[in-house]
Amino acid sequence: MARRKKIYEGKAKILYEGPEPGTLVQYFKDDATAFNAEKHDVIEGKGVLNNRLSEFFMSGLNAIGVPTHFIKRLNMREQLVRQVEIIPLEVVVRNTAAGSMSKRLGIDEGTPLPRPIVEFYFKDDALGDPLVTEEHIIAFGWASQQDLDDMVALALRVNDFLSGVMMAVGIKLVDFKIEIGRIWDGDFMRLVVADEISPDSCRLWDIKTGQHLDKDVFRRDLGSLTDAYTEVAKRLGVLPTNVTHATKPTLIN
Ligand code: UDP
Repeated sequence: MARRKKIYEGKAKILYEGPEPGTLVQYFKDDATAFNAEKHDVIEGKGVLNNRLSEFFMSGLNAIGVPTHFIKRLNMREQLVRQVEIIPLEVVVRNTAAGSMSKRLGIDEGTPLPRPIVEFYFKDDALGDPLVTEEHIIAFGWASQQDLDDMVALALRVNDFLSGVMMAVGIKLVDFKIEIGRIWDGDFMRLVVADEISPDSCRLWDIKTGQHLDKDVFRRDLGSLTDAYTEVAKRLGVLPTNVTHATKPTLIN
């Protein structure tokens, strides 16, 4: 079989040409990076877990009518997705103060916010993904006012869905990041959730213990990242079968 054409390689994923025009294959790597890739490690099994978790969240969103690029999971590490034109912004939604917001504004981590706050960051590694305002976005042509309104609405729907799903398994959705892409249908354009939704891009705290079950485990050296992601996958019932012990252990004579 001819080697697939690589379209793009990022820090945690690779995109290959898909089997049909307008599709891509998204491959989840085991690489973990933080602080603009200053910290890097390979964490065995992370890609498999994120592939499953992103499938779970994206297919749930599709099912309730929130459009995403996700079509189907192909295997342990790959999923088939619609090709989109990525808007060069990271859209962050926060329910509780943490991370860069706590640092920037001096608000203690864990402080509940009076309403979900949507922020935009310009996707540019060389600049360290700076926070930008709607004024910057419109002035520099990254998105129109209509796109911005649609992006905020989309991000808040994702927030409601994810918060509910996580709350049901005893986890608080503190904040998360999504990327949004454009899909063209002739002259008609619509915005869809793209990239991935996984513990790499969310802050997830156990409701009872406050334990971190997300990439902060890696960023802040809080223990095993695989254990944390496995816990999330287990609670959601999406653990790949080969790493669960569905049957009782049997003695081998
Ligand atoms: N986030 C992300 N990719 C980034 C930056 C942030 O997925 O490049 C996620 C992060 O995991 C968290 C949320 O967006 O869930 C808000 O991150 P924050 O701005 O607090 O930045 P951080 O403290 O992670 O640097």
